[in-house]
Amino acid sequence: MEERGGKQMIIDIHSHCFIPDAIAARAIAGMARVVDGVLWPVGDGSLRNQLDQLDHDGIDMACMLPIATKPTQHDVILRNALALRDGSIDPRSRRKIHPFMSAHPADPDLDRHLDEIQALGFRGVKVHPYYQGYALDDPEVWPFFRKLADRGFVVECHCGYDVGYPGRCDACGPREIAALLRNVPGLVFIAAHLAGCAGFPPHSTDELLELGCYADTSALSRDWMKDEQMRILRSWPTERLLFGTDFPWVKYDEAVRWVRSVRKEEDWEAVFGGNARRLLGL
Ligand SMILES: [Zn+2]
Repeated sequence: MEERGGKQMIIDIHSHCFIPDAIAARAIAGMARVVDGVLWPVGDGSLRNQLDQLDHDGIDMACMLPIATKPTQHDVILRNALALRDGSIDPRSRRKIHPFMSAHPADPDLDRHLDEIQALGFRGVKVHPYYQGYALDDPEVWPFFRKLADRGFVVECHCGYDVGYPGRCDACGPREIAALLRNVPGLVFIAAHLAGCAGFPPHSTDELLELGCYADTSALSRDWMKDEQMRILRSWPTERLLFGTDFPWVKYDEAVRWVRSVRKEEDWEAVFGGNARRLLGL
């Protein structure tokens, strides 16, 4: 990728890969089947492929976001995150991948597990209301988010429409996010996919700004020219936007070009890396 604006650090706050390599092809094929005709993967889902892409496109670091789809997945997710951190699968991951953890509200050992990952120095926790079976505006789930907030985790949450759950818009749209943030003050919350705007009326996300919400810039490339996605990317304050791709569903070079085409050059430093470094303490 061409160098513009000097040595600018680019951190992808939102990416996925599957560990080990042996399950990547199966996982990505399964997901591609679910979203058949809507979305095509641009990578094979493996760590090696992601690292190759990061190197090729000049991306300095990617946050890898696992999702605990069952309450029992803590151990395997932690094992993978530690392997990414110590480079035991591929030495490049030590400096190129910042692993997030995940947490599940129905985990019977939740407190112990959160204390453990906090002690191990993990800063980010990824959650996904559709995969995990709750809505953000359900008061029963607020204590879970309170625990994440009290330990200082940065919560990255799938928000808005999910192509894998056609017809659903009841769990993590702007209204549900607002209810959560109003009831869990102090929660550092990154609303993925431009604050979950896809599938909702224009300006639905505006009240999230007053609630301290962050948004990542990941959006399906088919949505890049849509008015609401463009409006949020253009008008949200620089310090609230974090570059994200959702790789392997969006190509790195194209995602960088899109964000650069919408935001002024003076915003790039913060959006492409500065905000992520500040939130994650990198
Ligand atoms: Zn994602």
